[in-house]
Amino acid sequence: MHDLTLEHEWNEDIADITPRCPKCQSPEIEARNIARRLGGAIGAIAGTTSGIALALTGAEMGLFAGPVGVVLGGVAGVVIDGIVGGATGCAAGSKLGAAIDRNILHNQHCRNCGHAFTDKSS
Ligand SMILES: [Zn+2]
Repeated sequence: MHDLTLEHEWNEDIADITPRCPKCQSPEIEARNIARRLGGAIGAIAGTTSGIALALTGAEMGLFAGPVGVVLGGVAGVVIDGIVGGATGCAAGSKLGAAIDRNILHNQHCRNCGHAFTDKSS
């Protein structure tokens, strides 16, 4: 273990940069990122929904401030909270999904032989 030559270490670095299929050694592989895409979509929907729900609660509270306040405050609140909630949820979902892709699912897919495997280098 302690007699690694410089050439050997250099080759290991190259192998890390270019992941290959463990079955056919083809470099033609792609990341599927299924959970990341799904997580981002679910997070965006959940975030937007909760953002709108919060904004609608704010609009109901605005009833005390008069009809004009409800319309202006409600519309602006729904749009802003929806966008912020959606973006936050999407980012959180993508992050969670990426972790699932990396640790649980076979995220790498070989385009040459169709073999799916887990990328442990990233
Ligand atoms: Zn392959």
